Amino acid sequence: MMRAPKRIGLFGGSFDPVHNGHVMLADAALDELSLEMLYLIPAAQSPFKPDDKPADNASRVQLLRLAFAGRENCEVDEQELQRGGTSYTIDTVRDYAARHPEAELTCLIGSDHVPMLPQWRDVDRLAGLTAFAAVPRPGEATVDFPAPFHGKRLSGVPVDVSASDIRARVREGQPFEHLVPPAVAEAIRELKLYADQT
Ligand code: ATP
Repeated sequence: MMRAPKRIGLFGGSFDPVHNGHVMLADAALDELSLEMLYLIPAAQSPFKPDDKPADNASRVQLLRLAFAGRENCEVDEQELQRGGTSYTIDTVRDYAARHPEAELTCLIGSDHVPMLPQWRDVDRLAGLTAFAAVPRPGEATVDFPAPFHGKRLSGVPVDVSASDIRARVREGQPFEHLVPPAVAEAIRELKLYADQT
């Protein structure tokens, strides 16, 4: 009997910090796509946020590990941090495609980023190597992936939270604990992250 191709999910982002919206998307993908493995891949520097200086790599990785602790099918992959510089999804996807030639790759993406896919690096090659998956925003019935991309709409429940919102809340002393997993909230306080950003 032929074994079905391994289904691998790739979830990249700044994760500055990881929050409940990310966890929701990861859970929806694991469940609805029956992923065997999901890799969380923090970016060194997002091409779309060239002026942002994210929290230090070690802290972002630590928060990600805490958010996904205890899940055997989730792993943090530090390859973009190790490469350094601007992180392009095509470089990471090519690495996975080379190491797992039999696998079906799916990149998880926020639905707000879907219309921007044509601006990503190496569009044709990227679309040929990976599918995409997104949860539509509230009120949207579906997600339209612009050609040549293809992907799946997931039916997770959107969580109205962004990392910039959390950073602002921490800086201003507003409650943020309900927007991140409890261990992440604790670590943000202990590491004194985002407290005195300007
Ligand atoms: P920032 O507010 O700093 O721009 P962010 O919250 O969008 O950050 P990123 O780490 O840049 O977080 O996001 C990584 C990926 O997760 C992106 O594809 C983004 O669209 C997606 N994402 C972020 N927030 C949510 C959310 N609440 N629900 C679903 N997907 C999300």
